[in-house]
Amino acid sequence: MRLENKVALVTGGGRGIGKQIALTLAQEGANIVIWDVNLQEAEKACLEIQTLGRKTLSTQVDVTNYNQVEEAINKILDKFTKVDILVNNAGITKDNLLLRMSQQDWDAVLGVNLKGTFNCIRAVSRVMIKQRSGKIVNIASIIGIIGNAGQANYSASKAGIIALTKTAAKELASRSINVNAIAPGFIQTDMTAKLTEEVKEKMLAAIPLAKMGSPSDVANVCLFLASKEADYITGQTIVVDGGMVMV
Ligand code: NDP
Repeated sequence: MRLENKVALVTGGGRGIGKQIALTLAQEGANIVIWDVNLQEAEKACLEIQTLGRKTLSTQVDVTNYNQVEEAINKILDKFTKVDILVNNAGITKDNLLLRMSQQDWDAVLGVNLKGTFNCIRAVSRVMIKQRSGKIVNIASIIGIIGNAGQANYSASKAGIIALTKTAAKELASRSINVNAIAPGFIQTDMTAKLTEEVKEKMLAAIPLAKMGSPSDVANVCLFLASKEADYITGQTIVVDGGMVMV
């Protein structure tokens, strides 16, 4: 097992990609902490993980709230004494064309996606610096690389995550902390289920591998970046999109 006795924290791990990441890391031996605004979903995911024989902790945390993040870290340290892996997965969309986008929708998306990622990196890296080890994986999006009409807030937040990943990687490298990002393309979750059939058809036509990705496609790359095999990789963004974006 690649993550035996490791402690992994996954934000927004109650459902979707985050839940699959939590399960995949647990299958490789990690004990799992899930932070989610929806405590019920986080608890359900943790029950599933416990059947794999792992220890879990679920806490209701809104990643935009730094005080909640700090308090929740103390709970992890009380139970597990360390944090080896942080996966910043919590994310939301509030799409609209630029001219119609409200201040509230801009602030909400930048708040969860970008500030939330910053809050968790800031709080968890304090612990990892003392440990002199750690792996941080930020879930960005290909939209943060190529942009998308109707997603000014989302694309800016995800581009911000990619830049934040590089800066954090440079600042934390001397303490053996690796910071990388994953940029998924079109993945089958609740977030994409709400898109119209027309939008889905257009997206599919632009994917060389001609299918949507699954949460496992993202989780497998996350497992790699969280494992020892990725010890010499930092500051990178790995695209998982069936070939849509080639750089
Ligand atoms: P989902 O909407 O299915 O899940 C997101 C999870 O994050 C939910 O459990 C949600 O809680 C939680 N969450 C939302 N806001 C907060 C918050 N403030 N604090 C803590 N948790 C919060 O999304 P996906 O699984 O599809 O996406 C996961 C990540 O992957 C996101 O960052 C997304 O941007 C990114 N991504 C997804 C793609 C896709 O095609 N699906 C493509 C590219 C990137 P609640 O249940 O209450 O909403």
